[in-house]
Amino acid sequence: MAIDTSLTLQAPPESTPILLPGDALAKGDRGEPLLIGGRCTSCGERMFPRHPVCPSCMGEDIVSETMPRRGTLYSYSVVHVGPKKWNKPFALGYVDLANSLRVFSHLLLADLEIGSAMELDVAEVGRESDGTPIVSFVFKRVEA
Ligand SMILES: [Zn+2]
Repeated sequence: MAIDTSLTLQAPPESTPILLPGDALAKGDRGEPLLIGGRCTSCGERMFPRHPVCPSCMGEDIVSETMPRRGTLYSYSVVHVGPKKWNKPFALGYVDLANSLRVFSHLLLADLEIGSAMELDVAEVGRESDGTPIVSFVFKRVEA
């Protein structure tokens, strides 16, 4: 199936705010966005976002770990009614990353299909009342 790339959003300017706190979103060597999650050193459980306590073993020694940029769309929903400042309609869903971690995320609303290949990107998902863009990580459909 062909992917309509005309709906792909351009990466926003560097100065726009990111929804995630701290070091959850980083840039790779080629400027590509990266999600930084966590891994429990006691049991190996991976998590995103990173938690202070392991949800599996309650261990507190959690190290940062870069998440794979690609995954598979597990499920999604298109939202038509929501917070005033968010662009609507928008899509939310779960992406199963290559390391088996399931991540909840905004999705680019273009040609979504359960089971399709997805890749991490950054996009404007809304605007504050003063016009400031709201920027977040998103997953977009890509060729497998
Ligand atoms: Zn653990």
